[in-house]
Amino acid sequence: MWFRFFGFLALQFCAGLLGWQGAGHPGALAGVVLAGALWMLADMWRGARVMAWLRTGEASKAPQMQGWWGEVTERTRRWLRQTQQQTQLAETRLQEFLAAIQASPNGVVLLDPQGRIEWCNDIAAAHFGFDAQRDLLQQIGNLVRDPAFTAYAVDPDPVRGTVLIGRGSSVGRPLRLSVHLHPYGEGRRLLLSRDVTALEQAEAMRRDFVANVSHEIRTPLTVMLGFVETMQSLPLDEGQRERYLGFMAQQAQRMQTLVSDLLTLSSIEGGPTPSSSQWIGVHNLIAQCAREAEALSGIVTAGQPKPHALRFGPMPEGAVAGAQSELLSAMSNLVSNAVRYTPAGGRIEVRWQPLPAGRAEFSVKDSGPGIAPEHLPRLTERFYRVDPSRSRETGGTGLGLAIVKHVVQRHGAELRIESTLGQGSRFAIVFPASRLRLDDAI
Ligand code: ADP
Repeated sequence: MWFRFFGFLALQFCAGLLGWQGAGHPGALAGVVLAGALWMLADMWRGARVMAWLRTGEASKAPQMQGWWGEVTERTRRWLRQTQQQTQLAETRLQEFLAAIQASPNGVVLLDPQGRIEWCNDIAAAHFGFDAQRDLLQQIGNLVRDPAFTAYAVDPDPVRGTVLIGRGSSVGRPLRLSVHLHPYGEGRRLLLSRDVTALEQAEAMRRDFVANVSHEIRTPLTVMLGFVETMQSLPLDEGQRERYLGFMAQQAQRMQTLVSDLLTLSSIEGGPTPSSSQWIGVHNLIAQCAREAEALSGIVTAGQPKPHALRFGPMPEGAVAGAQSELLSAMSNLVSNAVRYTPAGGRIEVRWQPLPAGRAEFSVKDSGPGIAPEHLPRLTERFYRVDPSRSRETGGTGLGLAIVKHVVQRHGAELRIESTLGQGSRFAIVFPASRLRLDDAI
């Protein structure tokens, strides 16, 4: 600054001196005025260059200058570059934050103090049926018209939240959303939505399951308690006591079968995938099924004029990889169902046959009552019964086909059910080539 001041004085002095030498006093005055004007012009020109550059706002286009204006330019350029870098960094950060929120499995909507949408991620757009661009700055209340949401928005509890039906929800594809509103900033609110359909379905299934199990256990328990009370309160002769004890043993047996099926199901569901290196001879499995089927058929058709016509195909060679107890449980469930549901005199045929592409099929065909098509998709649900009384009469728990389904899935196999009402049914397990071996060596 001082250098500039003294520079200006020196210029005035030199110009005045030159003017004085040339034309005396008037020349000195003219020299001083001329030098001052020239200095001002040069100064204005340099200032104009700086202003023109500042208007572009681009640090890289700073003019090259010396002296006082050069320093002003250099300092401004540095400050501009620093500000631009900070802005860029903040922009990058913001984009990263938005990308992170975008990647969230939950819906996120930012609301301004007037309740208008400032930003939302794609999940929220899908949950509420928004258009992430078009619906910006729209009132949330105009777009989410569920009365439960309207009531919740008036007095939001961020902890409790509320549950809404999502956009596009249908009977076949329900969508239930858990929604929470959290206040932040100055009057802003964060709307979070989470798809809780699977959770609610699992909860409903759990409730149904507990209710079903309780019901299945309560019935034999009530019967047993009735007999116990009778035996306690009435004087019974030996024959009556024997009969009552027999009934009680039957009910206890029913409960035991139920508990054992429940344990099988839970061990299958929670257990590790069955080994694919443990080989079980197919003939062993089928021979055991045959023994069980004959014993059960004897019980079911006792006192009937004709027994079942049980036919087991030629004993096959080969082995299947997996858990022996599970495979046996699945196969014998299918065979025992055929025996239990086919009236005396009916035909039951059990076969093992190779299929193309190295697969093989275990099938049980019966000439029983058959199953109406509307029941077929639900047969493998726990406790689903087409004919509950026939199922219970023959000792069924309603869990047999659920066990079969799980075992089949765990072994990478496929369960095929074909049935025609009044003509009979065919249940088959198709094993994949990866779990089969043709030779018998185990
Ligand atoms: P359950 O213990 O009642 O037999 P399952 O899960 O094994 O339970 O079978 C479910 C239902 O499927 C049975 O209640 C029965 O109504 C029907 N079902 C199963 N196998 C047969 C079959 N071979 N013939 C006719 N109905 C069958």
